[in-house]
Amino acid sequence: MENDFYINLEGLKEGNHEFQYQLNKSFFQSIDYAEIANGDFNVGLRLYKSTRHFELKFTFKGEVEVICDHCAEEFLHPMLFFTETIIRFGEEEYEDDDLIVLEKNNPVFDVKHYIYESIFINLPLKLVHPTVNGVSGCNPETLKKLEELKQNKENESDPRWDALKKLNK
Ligand SMILES: [Zn+2]
Repeated sequence: MENDFYINLEGLKEGNHEFQYQLNKSFFQSIDYAEIANGDFNVGLRLYKSTRHFELKFTFKGEVEVICDHCAEEFLHPMLFFTETIIRFGEEEYEDDDLIVLEKNNPVFDVKHYIYESIFINLPLKLVHPTVNGVSGCNPETLKKLEELKQNKENESDPRWDALKKLNK
């Protein structure tokens, strides 16, 4: 078991290799561009090196700290997902969902970047506190305030709407 965040692919023997990564707050804090500030993850990587390319299979299990879109409070969002990619060497660097091309003179795979991006991409677009037994996990105080704001808005008359109502008469 190894835990290198930067794997020199050229240096690996042909065959299977396994890597394990434990991510915590310091992992997310060490990435400058990170939108995720905190989390706990266990990431497994199975890497198979053949004569022509590398096959990588990742398992992600853990949770990230996110902001609820509904009540704006932090909560831990659990995640479990798998990713796969092929890496080969080529003339120019390239990257899409299932293929990464590295230049032969720079055969180092940046696992850190890959892991971070995978977690970020796999976050749902809308993050809301989970509902347990029909009860929203959102902060009830905040929800009450939001509801009041909504009511006030609905009570205000909208001049455009008033004009339309007149037209319809
Ligand atoms: Zn919430």
